[in-house]
Amino acid sequence: MPGDNGILAALDLDRTFLAEEHRSLRDLLRLVVARDVVPAAPEWERQRRVPPGAFTHLGDLGLLGLSFPTRLGGGEAGVRGAVVFHEELARSTFGGVASSVGTHTDFSALHLARAGSAAQVDRWLPAILAGRTVAALAVTEPEASSDLTRLGLRARRDGDAYVLNGTKTFITNANLADLFFVVARTGDTGRHGLSLFAVERSAPGLANGRTFDKSGWHCADTGELVLTDCRIPVAHRIGPEGAGFGLLMRGLDHERLCLAAQAVGLAEAALDATVGWARTRPAYGGVLWDKQAVRHRIADLVGRLAAGKTLLYHAAAQLDRGADGRVFAALLKAQLPELANEIAYAAVQFHGGAGFVREGPVERISRDARFLAIGGGATEVMRDEVARLI
Ligand SMILES: Cc1cc2nc3c(=O)[nH]c(=O)nc-3n(C[C@H](O)[C@H](O)[C@H](O)COP(=O)(O)OP(=O)(O)OC[C@H]3O[C@@H](n4cnc5c(N)ncnc54)[C@H](O)[C@@H]3O)c2cc1C
Repeated sequence: MPGDNGILAALDLDRTFLAEEHRSLRDLLRLVVARDVVPAAPEWERQRRVPPGAFTHLGDLGLLGLSFPTRLGGGEAGVRGAVVFHEELARSTFGGVASSVGTHTDFSALHLARAGSAAQVDRWLPAILAGRTVAALAVTEPEASSDLTRLGLRARRDGDAYVLNGTKTFITNANLADLFFVVARTGDTGRHGLSLFAVERSAPGLANGRTFDKSGWHCADTGELVLTDCRIPVAHRIGPEGAGFGLLMRGLDHERLCLAAQAVGLAEAALDATVGWARTRPAYGGVLWDKQAVRHRIADLVGRLAAGKTLLYHAAAQLDRGADGRVFAALLKAQLPELANEIAYAAVQFHGGAGFVREGPVERISRDARFLAIGGGATEVMRDEVARLI
């Protein structure tokens, strides 16, 4: 499978930063990705979705609950476990798998563990961890995203219910999901007027809008959600009214490290493929690797990825120790997706025509890495965050 050359293996970060349980987790993920993801994912790409059966399969293997506490039925593998999970899913070379599954595990349902009541956890979490219920997070709106204070989808209190009206866009798992964690405005403009709701697929007034055809992440289903007088019980609000912004912020460092880990996974796969290619591709009486311009460029990129990955693992270990990880998380989210894109560009370049046609992993990685520099906090927003915190 891609990644076996282990470009960064000599660093041996696993022994420095990971516990035995994380190393076993990586072994299991490598096996599952090679056996169950890589052979099936080309068809998932054609179908434009990771099928429900893949979620239940991962659930059966206990891989959907790694970020959840054991008292709630999860694996409690910590931030390091999540980083290994996202890195290995992305090393599959199918960024859409990491996006769709990662949205389910770490970007949406985790809000239940952080702020859900016992009744809410009982109602939804077992099926989420088993993969029978697929989850999604609905924040972005046509008129607002990076600037969350502008979100406008309204939730009006009506007796023992809320009535939601508005549109969410660019939602991962929009057509696939059974449960949506929806951020809606219950109060005044600004960040304090937002609340978080769990909206079941069967809620009256919930419908899918457009489905988007994207340049990358083909197997991650992305679409609109249209809520028209969508009535949900007050009991489906997650946390107190007005706490939505704070809840989103609580998960941010974790999410940013997960996305940075996806960037590392894609970059490692691209470099592995490129080293393998350059060492064997006949050129001018030798192989491409004989060209100093090629191997120096690759050596530089390996060095920068090694540095970034080391910081990622250090940051994950810090967060697991309870340290404040805000600067690291923003820094890594700013740096690693940009680096992954640079690496993907070089990988296509050194593969020549073979890197441009839609037949191999490098071409796909070059498309799938792109959105990591935009989603979950664009690079510019992350740089602002770093500058604010240092
Ligand atoms: C494939 C895909 C999957 C997605 N999945 C989800 C999902 O599951 N749930 C969800 O809620 N949303 C999702 N989104 C939305 C995604 O989070 C947003 O697209 C992203 O946050 C950027 O927001 P925007 O598109 O509104 O761009 P804008 O906020 O309009 O920003 C556009 C660009 O402006 C620049 N910019 C923005 N702010 C600043 C700043 N402060 N300083 C300097 N430059 C700035 C950046 O370059 C940015 O890329 C998804 C989008 C896509 C395409």
